[in-house]
Amino acid sequence: MKTALIIGGSRGIGRAIAVRLAQSGFTIWLTYKSNHDAANLVKKEIEALGVDCELMAFDVANYQQVQEALEKKCMDNVPEVLVYNAGITRDNLMIWMSKEEWDTVIDTNLNGFYNVTRQLIFPMLQRKKGHIIAIASVSGQIGQAGQINYAASKAGLIGAVKSLAREIGKKNIFVNAVSPGIIDTEMTEELDFNKIKHLVPLQCMGKASDVAETVEFLCSERQTYIHGQVIGVNGGLAI
Ligand code: NDP
Repeated sequence: MKTALIIGGSRGIGRAIAVRLAQSGFTIWLTYKSNHDAANLVKKEIEALGVDCELMAFDVANYQQVQEALEKKCMDNVPEVLVYNAGITRDNLMIWMSKEEWDTVIDTNLNGFYNVTRQLIFPMLQRKKGHIIAIASVSGQIGQAGQINYAASKAGLIGAVKSLAREIGKKNIFVNAVSPGIIDTEMTEELDFNKIKHLVPLQCMGKASDVAETVEFLCSERQTYIHGQVIGVNGGLAI
């Protein structure tokens, strides 16, 4: 039985990825921070497909919590797929950005990737098979005013993905980043898309399912040579 561990799967893009991978036959381990109601809805949706879904709540920014939740569990049953999707924004211009806004975003989006992946890497290497996908952002590729914390965290994630791909490709573990543009989720619900529509050649927001389809393809047996890449799902926002 193949298991996919989706970090930050209770809402938005992570939810769509969890459901899509369940449709492809993966048993789902789904993590989230605190939104129990949303997580339980996803669990029900996945179980309605006839697929098992186990929920785990922890803060990815807290190394001890992550270790307690995952270290032993992943030794006993190593997931074939890890999707690191947890991410937050705390936007502000540099001149106003507080230390707390900077630290929270880096701790969640970038340090969380280390905290989680560190628990899985040894059993994955032993198994010599698997996929690690990090959800980055177009902001980490081209920068975004008002998002220096977020863009730095996502650019860091891209650097980590590329380096890890060089480290462990020879062990048959694929490592890639998927980099969404503007996707219609709770994260972007306060955005007035009409004001920035002209920046997106396709002239529309993306859907969580657009990202989920890309992730599903990357972790499928239909792809055997995409490795260490940043795959944009952005309607042409970054070309
Ligand atoms: P949402 O805010 O809708 O969902 C975020 C998910 O991450 C939730 O499951 C949330 O859990 C979890 N999460 C957040 N912080 C933590 C934490 N500290 N510990 C554990 N889990 C946490 O986000 P989106 O679906 O919009 O975004 C998903 C990813 O895609 C993010 O990495 C984001 O940066 C990236 N992205 C999104 C874009 C967009 O336009 N939406 C564009 C580019 C990138 P809980 O429900 O418990 O809070």
